[in-house]
Amino acid sequence: MIETSARAFDVTPEQRAVGDLAREIALREIAPNVAAWDRGHVFPRALYTTLGDAGIMGIIVPEKYGGAGADYVSYALAIEELARVDAGTAVTLSVHAMIGSAILRLGNDEQKSHYLPELAGGDVIAGFALTEPGAGSDAGSLISTARRDGDSYVLNGRKQWCTNGSYAGVTMGMFRTGGPGPKGVSAFLIDNATPGIVVEKVTEKLGIHTSNTCDIAFDDVRVPATALLGDEGTGFSMAMSALTAGRIGIAAQATGILAACLDASVKFATEREQFGKPIAAFEGVSFKIARMATDLDAARLLVYRAAALCDRGEPFAIEASKAKLFASTAARTHAAEAVQIHGGYGYTTEFPVERYYRDAKITEIYEGTSEIQQIIIGRSLLGRLD
Ligand SMILES: Cc1cc2nc3c(=O)[nH]c(=O)nc-3n(C[C@H](O)[C@H](O)[C@H](O)COP(=O)(O)OP(=O)(O)OC[C@H]3O[C@@H](n4cnc5c(N)ncnc54)[C@H](O)[C@@H]3O)c2cc1C
Repeated sequence: MIETSARAFDVTPEQRAVGDLAREIALREIAPNVAAWDRGHVFPRALYTTLGDAGIMGIIVPEKYGGAGADYVSYALAIEELARVDAGTAVTLSVHAMIGSAILRLGNDEQKSHYLPELAGGDVIAGFALTEPGAGSDAGSLISTARRDGDSYVLNGRKQWCTNGSYAGVTMGMFRTGGPGPKGVSAFLIDNATPGIVVEKVTEKLGIHTSNTCDIAFDDVRVPATALLGDEGTGFSMAMSALTAGRIGIAAQATGILAACLDASVKFATEREQFGKPIAAFEGVSFKIARMATDLDAARLLVYRAAALCDRGEPFAIEASKAKLFASTAARTHAAEAVQIHGGYGYTTEFPVERYYRDAKITEIYEGTSEIQQIIIGRSLLGRLD
């Protein structure tokens, strides 16, 4: 196991302990099973009860709501350590925690005391439904509707690629209550058992096979008016606020994949011999590993910085975008290099790097593609020019 910059960054013993706990659980509960789960597209539901019992499902939920009351740096370390063993587990937790965090910041007292304890314990898993077939990066153009009817709202529409969909007890869903554009969108906390909800699992995807991805159809789904999160018309900004914090999780996920690539590459390069010596002795190999380790340090520092700013209550959106952009590009680039270092073995399922290669790609796509992150970062420097 290669330890790098966490030591140089100001990570406290308490924060490190959360990362260590996640690593211990990942090595004990996930590592022996992950290859089979990946092959079988298995969502390990019981694992999330174990993670709940250990306080990991509610890391950032305050103790008064049954959580661990830890901070975002601890959360990032936990996600990184889980992703180092299985990226699918990491995104399951990341989306779940993103909803917990949104309820904590944006929910009313009743919503907090209703949802946060069950989310923190891992008894209920949370999902997020923003994307639609016609509304991806341009999420503000979504067309699913919520019509007020007495003490209820009636939801109709189709949401796409919802992480945790089949297993979620509650979904934060964005629906149109007003006119066109982002200002007509409202957010709801939806009980997934409500009649009219049909969840369909997306069975074939390139990677993160242990994460559950679903399309969700809403057909005259009646939810109580109390399901509204915040006020009507604020749903789009709430979704963006949730995703801003969520990007720390995806950046940490990418960082964990990168760390796994480095672990595997160092091991293989020092063990595999060609031309009478370990392949690590060739600069063509060792330089790849040097770049990988350097980018891992840089990714970690960017992730921990964004998390630390969030913990201090300072603006962190641009830093979260930079962390996600850099870490996801680095994960995808170095996962390909890790396969290359393993040669033909890297292309087989005998070694985990082919999985890292498949898993890394999604980190450049969900919770805002790399192009969208560059738009956010560019606008922070240049303003809006359109
Ligand atoms: C496995 C998986 C899990 C997911 N989980 C969830 C979830 O839990 N909840 C949820 O709501 N969504 C989820 N998503 C959806 C995900 O967030 C979207 O796929 C993503 O935001 C991109 O939208 P899109 O796929 O429609 O691509 P599009 O928006 O159609 O983009 C296609 C391409 O065009 C580029 N592009 C678009 N607009 C611009 C622009 N203005 N400038 C430059 N380039 C641009 C994009 O960067 C991309 O390269 C998930 C997706 C996947 C695959």
